[in-house]
Amino acid sequence: MKSNIPGFHALSAEGRIEKIRKACNLDDKDIEVLKGGMDNKISEMMSENVIGTIKLPVGIATNFVVDGKEYLIPMCIEEPSVVAAASHAAKLARAAGGFKTYCDPSVMIGQIQIMGVKNTRDARKKILSNIPEIKKIANHRDSVMIRLGGGMCGVEAIIADSSRGKILIVHLLVNVMDAMGANCVNSMCEGVSPYLEKLTGGRSVLKIVSNLSDRRLVRSSAVWKRDVIGKDIIEGILDAYEFARVDVYRCATNNKGIMNGVDAVAIATGNDFRALEAGAHSFAARNGYRPLATYKKNKDGDIVGTIEMPMPVGIVGGATKTNPVAKTSLKILGISSARELAGIMASVGLANNFAAMRAMVSEGIQHGHMKLHAKNIAMSAGAMENMVADVARRMIELDDISVSSAQKILGKMPRPKKNIYSETRLCRNPINMR
Ligand code: NAD
Repeated sequence: MKSNIPGFHALSAEGRIEKIRKACNLDDKDIEVLKGGMDNKISEMMSENVIGTIKLPVGIATNFVVDGKEYLIPMCIEEPSVVAAASHAAKLARAAGGFKTYCDPSVMIGQIQIMGVKNTRDARKKILSNIPEIKKIANHRDSVMIRLGGGMCGVEAIIADSSRGKILIVHLLVNVMDAMGANCVNSMCEGVSPYLEKLTGGRSVLKIVSNLSDRRLVRSSAVWKRDVIGKDIIEGILDAYEFARVDVYRCATNNKGIMNGVDAVAIATGNDFRALEAGAHSFAARNGYRPLATYKKNKDGDIVGTIEMPMPVGIVGGATKTNPVAKTSLKILGISSARELAGIMASVGLANNFAAMRAMVSEGIQHGHMKLHAKNIAMSAGAMENMVADVARRMIELDDISVSSAQKILGKMPRPKKNIYSETRLCRNPINMR
């Protein structure tokens, strides 16, 4: 299977589905799921007080080669141009072999807060000399994971000062294998806390996973060749990277662009994107807020991008198997481990970061973005479904993609009998409320 499918973006949704069906061996049930989303019976199992579901587009990022393997990558996102940008950056990276990744074992940190310990130094020593017993109690909580080779693999004890006295913080390091791991780590923390209270004479307060999963880092790097993207773009990207490195306002947007890609794959695969956001930004802020991806030139004058970030994602547990779309997304990816998924997601984040910087230092980010956003604008301006493409095309031709431009174009078009978007237009656009 090749992930560069010529003309993929120009096909109809049906045409794209057929290509993906063939490339990823999807069956009729998968296709039904992709078209229909999730019904209430399933959503009621996932959340509370459910009254419905919201549909979001799932697109396929093409052209990705990660560690020598071709991937078609499902991305669920409502923002135009993210899927196109990732696919374009991946296409440009193919000339140098695509993305190379390395992912740590899936080690999560669980925290147990112990208060009221008389001698915290002694208590710390006791904890560290009783690791085998702590491990036995923790691992008793998840026999499936232990059978698969995971489980508790380390203990740390930290003493912190606070306005309510010293806090003894115990970290359980747990290899959660192919799970995201929050629930199983929480259970282990709760399981060992009575024993820790007995050992230390203190009282345990919080027992909870940390979302700064910095023992579960993933790295991905790619080379974009000078002959492919041009010397000026490379210099521009290096300038843009420096801007993000020294300025927190720019850096926030830079890292948001990375998370556009990471979150989109997380949502498509049923992963917890809030956990990823918390992990990514706290990791970026460890020594002053920094870009998650770095850029430099190699000896040939090509640009090398490298991303490093926590990636606590699973291919089992959570909603990965409950949400039918997530299950189909995992099938499209054709992956066999959480670490493989983490490598892909880091590569998508890097691709989106590179694509945004490349666009900003060349034609400007709005050029491509607004072209893709033109249909949304046409709809906001009140275009009926069968007029949307026409209005969008005319706005692009006029090089004026805005609600007022769409309204002018609509004003010159024959008036439709019934406008299904008219109520939205009346609410959204103050001009029409006069
Ligand atoms: P889970 O509770 O569904 O458990 C996964 C279980 O799958 C494991 O405990 C294990 O017994 C079993 N398993 C089977 N095959 C496995 C394999 N190959 N590798 C590993 N485990 C395997 O899921 P979870 O991953 O423990 O927790 C993830 C969920 O927890 C997410 O839905 C997340 O939103 C939620 N959560 C997050 C936070 C947080 O991030 N702060 C806190 C609480 C809950």
